[in-house]
Amino acid sequence: DNVKPSNFIHQIIEQDLEKGVNGGQVITRFPPEPNGYLHIGHAKSICLNFGTALKFGGECNLRFDDTNPEKESQEYIDSIIRDVSWLGFQWAGEVRYTSDYFQQLHDWAVHLIKAGKAYVDDLSPEQMREYRGTLTEPGRNSPYRERSVDENLALFEQMKDGTLPEGSCVLRAKIDMAAPNINLRDPVIYRIRHAHHHQTGDQWKIYPSYDFAHGQSDAIEGISHSICTLEFEDHRPLYDWLLANLPVPVVPRQYEFARLNLNYTITSKRKLKQLVDEQHVSGWNDPRMPTISGLRRRGYTPAAIRNFCDMIGVTRSNGVVDMAMLEAAIREDLDSNAPRAMCVTRPLKVTITNFAEGEEEWFELPAHPKDDSLGSRRVSFGRNLLIEQEDFEEIAPRKWKRLAAGEAVRLRGAYVIRCDEVIKNEAGDILELKCSYDPATKGANPEGYKANGVIHWVNADRSVPCEVRLYDRLFTEANPEADKARSFLDFINPESLVVLTDCRAEPGLANTEPETHFQFERLGYFTVDQDSSAERLVFNRTVTLRDSWAK
Ligand code: ATP
Ligand code: MG
Ligand code: MG
Repeated sequence: DNVKPSNFIHQIIEQDLEKGVNGGQVITRFPPEPNGYLHIGHAKSICLNFGTALKFGGECNLRFDDTNPEKESQEYIDSIIRDVSWLGFQWAGEVRYTSDYFQQLHDWAVHLIKAGKAYVDDLSPEQMREYRGTLTEPGRNSPYRERSVDENLALFEQMKDGTLPEGSCVLRAKIDMAAPNINLRDPVIYRIRHAHHHQTGDQWKIYPSYDFAHGQSDAIEGISHSICTLEFEDHRPLYDWLLANLPVPVVPRQYEFARLNLNYTITSKRKLKQLVDEQHVSGWNDPRMPTISGLRRRGYTPAAIRNFCDMIGVTRSNGVVDMAMLEAAIREDLDSNAPRAMCVTRPLKVTITNFAEGEEEWFELPAHPKDDSLGSRRVSFGRNLLIEQEDFEEIAPRKWKRLAAGEAVRLRGAYVIRCDEVIKNEAGDILELKCSYDPATKGANPEGYKANGVIHWVNADRSVPCEVRLYDRLFTEANPEADKARSFLDFINPESLVVLTDCRAEPGLANTEPETHFQFERLGYFTVDQDSSAERLVFNRTVTLRDSWAK
């Protein structure tokens, strides 16, 4: 169990450092496109890129890969910056943007044209697809492939000036239409787009493709190891071809690793955006979302997410990680660090008939059973108490560890009580329990009888009213995308959110700030929601105490 999961990237870098690659400097980058919020898959990439730089005394850049202006926005940029910082990482220098390099990228495109290695193509997208060939059939050269350098320069200039309409032509690298790797069959490197860009405004009418922008941006920034997911493995020959054919200052190397797939959720920005846009969730930071901001609001901590990323390791084999691993990571963190508290979520009135009205007794309980440094908390006992409805059955089932008519149970940290009378309405609903407490059971076992177990409770007159949001997994199916005949939306868990508005927490929880974590005894781990206020406390269930999904 103590074997560290493997990270083959680190092994490669160790070898590179021995060989003196890049002067022994490790420079990585995390390159999100600002077209959505970051999710748990991105966390893997963030931990890998920033973690690698930290491990080898290098640096990691944060670069917005912003070459598709229509889909991008400042809101996404802001959220990504916030999330990376919250995860605990610091990028080298300023935040960077691929759009900072548009002039240089343009000049390099001109360089390729002048070298006879790029041409303007007027084929329509459909024609281009047809000419491209297939995996088994080579492609055919475009009739525009042999345009002269001067003609190409003039046309590219017109593309850039905005005098040519969108879609009328593209700039392609001239590589090899018969290459077995389709990415090398004269890939598109520039498109016309008369779009407003969030960083460069209306300055540019042409935008570089991902492939043309990415490696060259890496080179500009002096990246030594450009780490990306396996879908880009087939793009690596193009990445290398462009760097080899341009006067770049350094030649980075691309390495691919397996992306994170997590069951019971989805890690596609497009589908997450659909959940938000169609209001299946309350927003990108809905606590059910696998986004960093959703996990944060749910009550995940940066340490738990980083530990999870360490636990899953970095390999080149695609697989699906069990959601239970992520949940285990937050349980472990909160078990050690979250103070304990009592909260009754579905209250049942309990009157302690032998405790005087108007009196109260305070108990001092440890905030954490195993960590004195978390201090203590005070809870109030009195005549009017509340327990969970589910902690009472009139006739005790076998091995019942809770309260039943005529039987006794211990109230956590206080006394043993016995249920003497059950008050019901005409319909038979239980309205109230009349109980008596045994004053001799404060910190001592009852004499001559047994208590069934221990339950949590609050003093009705002292407790803090609150709302509790019980969150669960967003999908009922491990793989909501498996059935191609149906939509992932069909598998949304209808019980992924249950809101309880009539809850009562122990007195010390008044005025707790958003993002404060607690273990509510017997119920799970809970975190104060951002909607919470002094008037209306709101707690989100982060995770249950034990895995209830295990089969
Ligand atoms: P999506 O498929 O969700 O749209 P993306 O790859 O298009 O994701 P980017 O913003 O380009 O999103 O991602 C930034 C970085 O995060 C990239 O280097 C990408 O490889 C990495 N990344 C994205 N999703 C995952 C994932 N599930 N696991 C690991 N790394 C990921
Ligand atoms: Mg991408
Ligand atoms: Mg994408």
